[in-house]
Amino acid sequence: MNPSPEEILKKSVQFLKSIGPKRAESFSKMGIATVRDLLFYFPSKHLDRTTILTAIKAYGHLINGYEGELTIVGKVYEVEKIRFRQKQILKIQFRDNSGFFECVWFQGINYFADLFHEGEIFALSGKPVLSKYGNLQFTHPDFDRITEEESNNLLNTGKIIPFYRIPKELRQKNIGDFSLRKIISSAVENYSSYLEETLPLNIIQDQKLISLPDAVRNYHFPDNPDMLRAAVQRLKFEEIFYLEILVALRKHNYKTSQPGNSMKIMSHLVSDFLKTLSFQLTKSQLRVLSEIKKDMESPSPMNRLLQGDVGSGKTIVALIAMLIAVDNGFQAVLMAPTEILADQHAKNISKMMKALSKVSGERVIKVSLLIGGQKKSERNINLADIELQQSDIIIGTHALFEHAVQFKKLGLVIVDEQHRFGVEQRAKLLNKGITPDVIVMSATPIPRTLSMTLYGDLDVSTISEMPLDRKSIKTYLRGESKIPDIYKFILEKIKEGYQSFIVYPLVEESEKLALKSAMTYYNDLSKSYFKDIKLGLIHGRMSWREKEEVMSLFLAKQFDVLISTTVIEVGIDIPAANIMLINDAHRFGLSQLHQLRGRIGRGAKQAYCILVIKDEYLAKNKIQDLDYLSPMRLEKHKTMVRLQTMVQYNDGFKISEIDLRLRGPGDIFGTAQSGFPELKHINIIQDSEIIMNAKKTAFEIIKEDPHLRNSANLIIKKSLLKYYSASLKYAKIA
Ligand code: ADP
Ligand code: MG
Repeated sequence: MNPSPEEILKKSVQFLKSIGPKRAESFSKMGIATVRDLLFYFPSKHLDRTTILTAIKAYGHLINGYEGELTIVGKVYEVEKIRFRQKQILKIQFRDNSGFFECVWFQGINYFADLFHEGEIFALSGKPVLSKYGNLQFTHPDFDRITEEESNNLLNTGKIIPFYRIPKELRQKNIGDFSLRKIISSAVENYSSYLEETLPLNIIQDQKLISLPDAVRNYHFPDNPDMLRAAVQRLKFEEIFYLEILVALRKHNYKTSQPGNSMKIMSHLVSDFLKTLSFQLTKSQLRVLSEIKKDMESPSPMNRLLQGDVGSGKTIVALIAMLIAVDNGFQAVLMAPTEILADQHAKNISKMMKALSKVSGERVIKVSLLIGGQKKSERNINLADIELQQSDIIIGTHALFEHAVQFKKLGLVIVDEQHRFGVEQRAKLLNKGITPDVIVMSATPIPRTLSMTLYGDLDVSTISEMPLDRKSIKTYLRGESKIPDIYKFILEKIKEGYQSFIVYPLVEESEKLALKSAMTYYNDLSKSYFKDIKLGLIHGRMSWREKEEVMSLFLAKQFDVLISTTVIEVGIDIPAANIMLINDAHRFGLSQLHQLRGRIGRGAKQAYCILVIKDEYLAKNKIQDLDYLSPMRLEKHKTMVRLQTMVQYNDGFKISEIDLRLRGPGDIFGTAQSGFPELKHINIIQDSEIIMNAKKTAFEIIKEDPHLRNSANLIIKKSLLKYYSASLKYAKIA
């Protein structure tokens, strides 16, 4: 019997021309085991005649004041190392049919000199300038080597050349640009026609897409720029379409699994509670609350994302929802990502429940804390309380997922800072045989397209304003030489009742990175600058009891300054702490910096956040036009963009948008977080139109045919089972 197309594509790459067992092993290390895998290893960029200038044209552009990036293809004419003010530089002359241009290198002279040989052809890209002698000159350009034949095809016939990322493993096996292009070219030629279509024909027609084999062929070796665009379009659509199918299945599954509870807003409990607060809820909080109430009243289970910037007051909203559940005779759970946060929530909420009881005249609503590291006896009492419904509000961490925890009547689950929770854990709680209402809270606000995509199975409520009394935090970026002044500032402010955080990236000194560590600095500072004040230390190696003690002392103003690692990152609320000094700020990601900064400015006082990096770095890399960065420059200046974004913006939505541009959506769609496959082709920011189309198409299909039984949809079911099995367990198809 002849092998099926599927079997042919499952062949190991080892059997392709120019790949033996050794090279096959290197390929498999980069995730390419089969011929099919290789066909789906797409170029990271293409070189296309329309983006190339001749030397003479480029020269003309420069004369006319053009300052952007451009590409010229040229032949190496002369390589010379020359002395220039005590230093050696590398200068390479290139020529094309129209004239000469040059490239210079100030660093890695020998390395680069070895890469360029007379007569070889390169595509050089960068921002050229006119040199002192009036020559067109690139400094440290990007470059790609192409063959003479490729260059002729490119320039004469308009053929487009693909470039692939070539990991070290392959380079070591002597696979470079040319050989990989050859290998892939022959695989595409011989095998792409075996690819079976993975989208239904009617969708391909409606969306005006090209077939899968055509898309694969043209992504690698496009006939022309239009075909390349069509190929990319097809792969983008397919990628987001299947993700939306998964989202739609998840949503369908949740809504139809079991009926939920239908609660009523009955007594005066909530209005009594509002009386105990020293502030009024913001308009946003009230709006979000009414959305939540509606869901709780409805018999279908709530599945809602509550997003709002750090400090926007999500906890109070969550607590009111919990009170409604308790008022209806249910238990409510609040899950936090860390033990100190759970502990803090439990303490605050217990206090509030006592105050509530005084106003309402009713019994005190009982709060239990359940976290790892509790004493066994304590834990057993808590477990019994939960099982017998002695406790109404249960607050905890992952410990809540354990089998031993049996809720008597669970009506509402709230997950705080949900980006820390994997779907798997959430699924576990829901699998306890009940369908409670669920609210997940996130302080990482995300743009609408992203929330609609990633959380398309959730309804979204957004707190869009901060409490009125907040002043926006003042953020500064300073070199390390300013640290003594910053310490002085911290000491001055203690007199005004300010407390401060000083944050370091790691606990222990790591010689390799030479990063400052909280422990060492605690020791040094308590003997020097801060010898006359009360200094505290908290870090990740402490047990939660130790951490909890430090936090309580800090809250009670027993410390003026707290030296800490990022353990304070999430959710911690110390109202009088209003200065934060972050050391080695370049080590932190943007959303992490925003979370950290969110620990201050939580009251009415002016708060200050000071980001510190090396002086040299600051002097060299300051960016002037933060808002107008091309993707290339953005990539080059990531670190400074992050830091300056923090200085310029307080708004978490703006910050997460920039973060998204910096990190790319792949990062945010980690399977661990979302349970969805990673996105390779789609750009969440730029491709909103494709996303909307795919979403609409996918949701319509699942609405009409949730089990994918129609003959037109069988191909979807088949592809899901074949290529998305890892994500499927959360969507429960089959
Ligand atoms: P987050 O949204 O980051 O979880 P919290 O719920 O911890 O924020 O609220 C931050 C602080 O603001 C808390 O001390 C809380 O009591 C207070 N707060 C909440 N809502 C308001 C409001 N409407 N007016 C004033 N302060 C508020
Ligand atoms: Mg919070």
